[in-house]
Amino acid sequence: MNRKLEVPIGSIKLAEGLAVEDNWFAVQALDDATLAIGEPAYHQENWSYLISDRDESLLFDTGAGRRPIAPLVFRHAKATVQAFPSHMHFDHLGGINQFDSIIVADLEILRNCEQDGVLTPTTEMHLGHYETVDIPSFRVGHWAAPGETITIGARGLEVLHTPGHSPDSVSLWEPEKNRLYAADFVYRGPLYAQTPGASLKDYLKTCILLLERLPEEVEIVCAHGGTDADGAHEMPVLGYADLAALADVLDRLLAQGSPREGETRVNDHMSLMHSLECFAA
Ligand SMILES: [Zn+2]
Repeated sequence: MNRKLEVPIGSIKLAEGLAVEDNWFAVQALDDATLAIGEPAYHQENWSYLISDRDESLLFDTGAGRRPIAPLVFRHAKATVQAFPSHMHFDHLGGINQFDSIIVADLEILRNCEQDGVLTPTTEMHLGHYETVDIPSFRVGHWAAPGETITIGARGLEVLHTPGHSPDSVSLWEPEKNRLYAADFVYRGPLYAQTPGASLKDYLKTCILLLERLPEEVEIVCAHGGTDADGAHEMPVLGYADLAALADVLDRLLAQGSPREGETRVNDHMSLMHSLECFAA
């Protein structure tokens, strides 16, 4: 493998407010009960979120799997921890088998991968072969339907189906905090719509739904990070204007009616990678 998948965490510059744990993760509190867990030393810079209240915690995405995430999670979590992968891409399922209680979005594409209560994503949904990562199998404790509100203590998180990047993607919407946990629907950097299962039409439809649904002051926390103007790695946050800019670009690309491979700039925060297939899907 000639691509460098990770670097020593000590060799990279971290934004203020990030604390290194377990010589691999960088964590930051979003508030007194929500922890962002980053992996800035991994080339994809994944971010997972630990959402807690009273005696319950929810881990939205289980990390890239380069290091065990469970010790850190259990240090910070309340008594019970449930893990909820936003979608089946390998870099979000890394630590899935380190947790006993797993929530999965109740979508037909995921139900089709389940047998006797155990889910095994397909190669195309997992994409682990990109980095020689084995496909995991795991027992589903609860199927959460789109529109369902998951309660963690007194906190409520609505499951929103957000296809585009992948057909099985979900985001969590927490109205009380005005916060969307967007996972891979939007993040800082090149958005992947060139991967199998991506669809520009779905991407646009989801953007429009979110623009209608979310308030303009929404805080969008994302699953892949980037660097600030000084080159320091930081937790990825986007806003309503970023969603609107993405919708404009998707609308324009689809209206042109001439599918092409490439990368199109969205704004200072994002670009969109596209394949021929994602125009047709
Ligand atoms: Zn993904």
